[in-house]
Amino acid sequence: MKKKLAVIGCGIAGLTVANLFKNNSNFDLKLYERKKELSLEEGYGIQLSPNSVSVLNKINFSNIQNNSFFNPSKLNFYSSDNKKICDLNLERFNKNSYKYTTLKRSTLIEFLKTDLFYNNIKFGKEVKRVSKIKEKLLINFNDNTNDLVDYLIISDGIFSKTKSIVESVNIQPVYSGSIAVRSLIKVQEDFPFDKKNISLIMLKNAHIVIYPINKKGELNLVCIIRQKFSKKIDVNLLIKTEIISQNKNLENLFNNYLEFWPVYETKKPYRSTYENLFYLGDAFYTFTPTMAQGASQSIESAYELFNLLSNDTKDLQNVYFQKRLNKIRLVNKRSRLNYYSFHLSNPLMVKTRNFLLKKFIKSEKFLDSYLGNIYQTI
Ligand SMILES: Cc1cc2nc3c(=O)[nH]c(=O)nc-3n(C[C@H](O)[C@H](O)[C@H](O)COP(=O)(O)OP(=O)(O)OC[C@H]3O[C@@H](n4cnc5c(N)ncnc54)[C@H](O)[C@@H]3O)c2cc1C
Repeated sequence: MKKKLAVIGCGIAGLTVANLFKNNSNFDLKLYERKKELSLEEGYGIQLSPNSVSVLNKINFSNIQNNSFFNPSKLNFYSSDNKKICDLNLERFNKNSYKYTTLKRSTLIEFLKTDLFYNNIKFGKEVKRVSKIKEKLLINFNDNTNDLVDYLIISDGIFSKTKSIVESVNIQPVYSGSIAVRSLIKVQEDFPFDKKNISLIMLKNAHIVIYPINKKGELNLVCIIRQKFSKKIDVNLLIKTEIISQNKNLENLFNNYLEFWPVYETKKPYRSTYENLFYLGDAFYTFTPTMAQGASQSIESAYELFNLLSNDTKDLQNVYFQKRLNKIRLVNKRSRLNYYSFHLSNPLMVKTRNFLLKKFIKSEKFLDSYLGNIYQTI
C-alpha cells in the first residue's frame, strides 16, 4: 500500500524533496505552503556547490536554460584596497555533469516547481496541531482541514513555526551578530573585479561577495557586516560608515536598491519526538552564510532523507539525525573559521591571513579536506 507523505513549506528544501519523491510510486505526496503562492524572491542569488548540483541533476536540472545560470571557475580573494590576494580554482571540484553553479533563487524555484503537479500543493496552509494516531500522524491545519499521513517532513525555513507547534516548545534561532545587505549589479565599464567569477572582498568586520547569476551580465552582491542587533537600521548610512569608509572605490557597488536583513543561525538541531517526522533545510539547521552552503545542504539533505525513506531504513530518525549532525559539524567549523578570518582588522593578522591563504590555496591536500569534503561528498 502507498505511504502518505506530507511536506510543510515549499522553499528549496521542500520542493527538492517533493521532486525526488514525485516519481516514486510507493508514496502519495502532498505539499502545504503558508503563502498564497511560491515565494520567488526575485533577484536574490545563490551559489550551488557540485554536491547539490549532482542531486538536482537527478531531477533534470541539466535541462535548465543555458543563459539562466553561470559556472564560475574561480573564487578570487581581494583585500580591502581591491588588490587581488589569490584565487581558488573551483573547477577542481567539478565533474563533467555537475559544476559549481550560481543563479537567481527565482530561477531555481521556477525549475523546482515546473514538474510538480500544481494540485499537489495546497496554498494558504499553516499547521495548528500534530498528533499521533497509532503509527500515523494527524495534521490539523488552521483552516480546520486535516490530513492523516505516514510521514511528515517540515521544511518551513529558519523560524520554523511548525517546529515549535509540533514539539510544544518555543524553538528560536539566534541573531548571528551580522546584517546581510543584498543588491543586484549590472556590469559597469569600470567594474574593478572579475565579472566572470566569484569575488570575495575582505574588510574590517565585513566582507562582500559578488558573483554572476546568469550569462546576461547580472551580478549578485551580498555584503555581511558585523553589527549589533537593531530594529532600525539606515542601510545606506551603514554602508557608508562600515564599508565606503574603508575603501571609497567600493561606492559604485552600492548604487542600486539595497535590501537588508539580520542573519540568524540555529543554536542546535532538534531531533523530533515523533519517529516519522523530519526537519529539513533551514528548519533543521541554518548556517551562517560564510560557506554559501545553506541551499546546497538543504538539497543534499533532501536527497539523504529521500533515500532513507525510499529504502525503508531501520532506525530512520536516528540515522538521518546522525548523518546530518556530522555534516553540520563539518560545515559549521569552516563557516566559523571563514567568518573570523574574512573580517580581521589587525594589520599583522591580515598579513598573516593573506600569506596563509596564498599557501593553503595551492595545497591539494588542504583543499580536499577543507572544501572537497563538503563540495564533493554526499
Ligand atoms: C545572506 C544569505 C546568503 C545566502 N547565500 C547562499 C548561497 O550562496 N548558497 C546557498 O547554498 N545558500 C545560501 N543561503 C542560504 C539559503 O538561502 C537557505 O539555506 C535556503 O534557502 C533554505 O531553504 P529552505 O527551503 O529550508 O527554507 P526557505 O527558503 O525559507 O523556505 C521555507 C518555505 O516555507 C514556507 N513557510 C514558512 N512558514 C510556514 C508555515 N508555518 N507553514 C507552511 N509553510 C511555511 C515559506 O513561505 C517558504 O516557502 C544564504 C542565506 C543568506 C541569509
